Amino acid sequence: MTDKFIKKLTETKIKELLIAISIQYPKQFNKSHINSELEYILKHITMMHLDPIKLKESKDKFKKKQKQNKLNPNIISDGDRCKARIWGKIFEINEINDDNILTPINKIPKQYKVTNFDDIDLDEFNSRYVIGTRCKNKKNSDKYCKRHSQHLIHGDFFEKPSAELCFHYIKDNKLLWLIWKSKQNIINIINIINIINNKVRKRQKTKDKRQTKTNKDKQRQTKTN
Ligand SMILES: [Zn+2]
Repeated sequence: MTDKFIKKLTETKIKELLIAISIQYPKQFNKSHINSELEYILKHITMMHLDPIKLKESKDKFKKKQKQNKLNPNIISDGDRCKARIWGKIFEINEINDDNILTPINKIPKQYKVTNFDDIDLDEFNSRYVIGTRCKNKKNSDKYCKRHSQHLIHGDFFEKPSAELCFHYIKDNKLLWLIWKSKQNIINIINIINIINNKVRKRQKTKDKRQTKTNKDKQRQTKTN
């Protein structure tokens, strides 16, 4: 193939693509834009010269890898897979998409926006949501992969998670109502300021009282003298 031919082929293919875009989005990209856009692309495109030997080498490598993948498929059967839970999003059990996959949630009902994990109704939460996903590694022991046999941070995927763990997933998936939190923080700060002010005022009052008392005493003393 000559360079000239490749250049012509590229030009034709880009033009076809631009026409397709114009048909799809006639308002944003009308027919009059096609030629100017084509000119712009061709001006800025860099044609690479591919070494035919190198091209053959990479093709061979690709074929070899494909063959290897067929011999050792990377997919681990369910029974051979680690049972640990790993970090991830929270999924609503009843929300299954078209591909039969649970969809992750991006908001959570009010009753789970707690400041203390003990306030989560755990049975209700667990009947509604799944937290995190299952580890994809191959089992090393009877249950877990090498890493999770040593350290099971997020528990077993098939066991009900604790309220503390659920709270960790809610909080670190940023599902708590932050505005409410900051409002609450402001209220707390105002309360603290008020308490301090009251104490200062009380102290000032007693100081003033003491001062007037000593003043009166002094006055009385000078009178008797
Ligand atoms: Zn694992």
